[in-house]
Amino acid sequence: MARRVTKNLTNIKRIAGIPVHGAFVSFICVKCSKINFLFVGNKLLNPADAYDSQSWKCAHCNFVHSKSSPLPLKNEKGKPLPFSKWDKKITKENSLAAQRFWKAFFTAATESRESYWKQCNTCGRILPGRAFSGHAGWGPLEKQMECRSCKAVINTNLNPKRTKEQLHESSAKRRTAELLLAGENEHLNLEDLFKRFGGKCFKTGKPLDIKKRKTWAIDHILPSRWLYPLSTRNAALLSTEANNNKRDKWPSEFYTNNELKRLADITGADLELMSRKKPIINPNIDVDACVGRMLTVRGATDISRRIKDLKKLLEDYDLVDSLSEQNKRMLGYSR
Ligand SMILES: [Zn+2]
Ligand SMILES: [Zn+2]
Repeated sequence: MARRVTKNLTNIKRIAGIPVHGAFVSFICVKCSKINFLFVGNKLLNPADAYDSQSWKCAHCNFVHSKSSPLPLKNEKGKPLPFSKWDKKITKENSLAAQRFWKAFFTAATESRESYWKQCNTCGRILPGRAFSGHAGWGPLEKQMECRSCKAVINTNLNPKRTKEQLHESSAKRRTAELLLAGENEHLNLEDLFKRFGGKCFKTGKPLDIKKRKTWAIDHILPSRWLYPLSTRNAALLSTEANNNKRDKWPSEFYTNNELKRLADITGADLELMSRKKPIINPNIDVDACVGRMLTVRGATDISRRIKDLKKLLEDYDLVDSLSEQNKRMLGYSR
């Protein structure tokens, strides 16, 4: 399957030599107050022994942060630091208080994945983990290679025509398709779904917990946007991140050929249909029945907007002719 060649499409170059997935630990120097980054690579430090094993030298003033260091009384310019007002017994190297200070210092810098930083391979900045979108299975922080800001630029260049209006139209189409399919979706047995997929994200292999509802999602393999209802054959188990990447994509745009074959094995989905290069509107859907249902839903808000969106979808998908005379009349297509 053709992979997207980001560099050629966007003209945004990756910076060579940046560790793609590795993590940095960061600390503010207790002497000069400047920020430091230490590259720790693909294995995060163990907070339980960071205190014993680590010795961090400030890149700006050379002060060494370690369990056997005193707390500095003066900064690098000789100006007294707040520590100088503390009792000397507390700030002395190897005092119980100083040891506890360093213990907490190293724990705070290493105790969770959120403590770590990462370098964007596009703008080169070292940023906190939350500045990157998640990507299951990528490095110890499971983050994307470019920061969210750079990613936004890359996405703009990949989809230059996706203006705000088109984004609205696209989400309106998806919403309308979902409303149309409301009576067609099969009720899925979630335990069976987990069993079929071995309790793992089909794309990344990450183990998933059925009880943690926010961490997994059901991929509508053939998207509802093209009028395929949800069914046992049309459902894959994905982690939330993988599903966010999949969204409305046609299966061949997201899954590799091998994955498509396995997916057909697991679910009974139509391999030929999934492997098509371009989406095709579900030829088996009873559009007229769906429209009829949608037009009789009671209590729907903003009905004129809904009808406008529905007509746009029917026209774009060339489905007006498959409507009954009654539904055509309801939508103002005939008198
Ligand atoms: Zn320093
Ligand atoms: Zn960046």
